[in-house]
Amino acid sequence: MENIERLYNNIFQLLRRHHELFSTALPLIASENIVSPAVKEALVSDFGHRYAEGWPGERVYAGCKYIDQVELITIDIMKRIFDAEFVDVRPISGTTANLALYSAFTEPNDIMVALSIAKGGHISMGKKRFWGSAGLVHGLEVEYFEFDEENFNIDVDRSMKKIISIEKEKGKVRLVMFGGSVFLFPHPVKELSDFLKARDIIIGYDAAHVAGLIAGKKFQDPLREGADVMSMSTHKTFFGPQRGAIVSFEKYAEKIKKAVFPGVTSNHHLNTLAGLSIAALEILKFGKKYADDVIKTAKKLAEALYERGFDVVGEKKGFTESHQILVDVTKYGLGGDIERKLENAGIIVNRNLMPWDPQRGLHYENPGGIRLGVQELVRIGMGPSEMIDVARFFERAIIKEENPETIRREIADFRKDYQDVHYCFRSLKKAYEYLPINQ
Ligand SMILES: *Cc1c(COP(=O)(O)O)cnc(C)c1O
Repeated sequence: MENIERLYNNIFQLLRRHHELFSTALPLIASENIVSPAVKEALVSDFGHRYAEGWPGERVYAGCKYIDQVELITIDIMKRIFDAEFVDVRPISGTTANLALYSAFTEPNDIMVALSIAKGGHISMGKKRFWGSAGLVHGLEVEYFEFDEENFNIDVDRSMKKIISIEKEKGKVRLVMFGGSVFLFPHPVKELSDFLKARDIIIGYDAAHVAGLIAGKKFQDPLREGADVMSMSTHKTFFGPQRGAIVSFEKYAEKIKKAVFPGVTSNHHLNTLAGLSIAALEILKFGKKYADDVIKTAKKLAEALYERGFDVVGEKKGFTESHQILVDVTKYGLGGDIERKLENAGIIVNRNLMPWDPQRGLHYENPGGIRLGVQELVRIGMGPSEMIDVARFFERAIIKEENPETIRREIADFRKDYQDVHYCFRSLKKAYEYLPINQ
């Protein structure tokens, strides 16, 4: 009994320590963000204990009258944000959204072309042999785009040739998926669109990382450039709760709806739906400024790191057009070791495979790079001018190898001025404040 109580209390202590960690560190994971206090309020609401299967108004459970209203409002705002005819906000994550997309547009054994993991693709677009969802769960045969390492983008001409040769040798390509987890520059959707449409290939776009930038009209506009359908996570640059969405055209609405439910979801986590409705309103109101600030801040951090000697990818192209920065760290060690070193100093990043890592024998566990995203720093009020300080902390931790504890304390001090969530209507609680209910 005592042990159970100790464990019970321990969980709350661990939660508090986690909040403390994030309020004193530099959170730079490219796939994360912080939600506003308003979104947090939605997350603890009773919506989180209910079921609402089906489409609003056609649910298979009672008790959904307010849930339906929130879902319809969310759909409506998301349509406005993405200028889209059809939106499904029920996928519970980006991966679920991708599985629904595959189910709506392809059959098992169909061929899909996407980026390989080393070139920035995501495991949800991966081959069965690597346990990727596309291959493992939906049975797709995954082939890869050709990649131009110098411009850090999909190679248009070589990818066309590749698709022609795949169709000659293996059969029809049913779907291409643009987008990825390492995503520095807009993908050539427009450049490939005519070619793909002429071959009757569905054009998908995975906006998991860049949805918030697309929403802010600062990246690319896939649906206008030729994409048939766009999937996303709602918690990376789009600063909502952890969830997903699919955005498309009316002509595809019915099959997407069926693929989402009953296809890949049952209950769809209604507290995070409510959170998404709030976040979507914040994006509608503040999204343009936010996206602009994110991209300017990312460029600045990339430059500042480069000036301090780091091998930042994409120099010729201005390093980045998104929230992300990719650094080859092999001059100083391997990605996994650098990630740990930075964590000890209070800088939270993730190691990342570089496109050229497989050739030099480096693997995911300890690859040659790290990936940074500035979106969370921007959300807590930092901008280009703070990035010099941030780059200096990187320099001290990795190049000068100063005592990590000293750096960690200085970062905690530096962070004191950045404790509120910005780009939201009201911020009555601190960004990383632990909000007790049970204590
Ligand atoms: C993060 C990511 C996903 C998956 O999103 P989850 O919401 O974590 O399931 C899908 N595609 C890409 C390109 C991603 O980066």
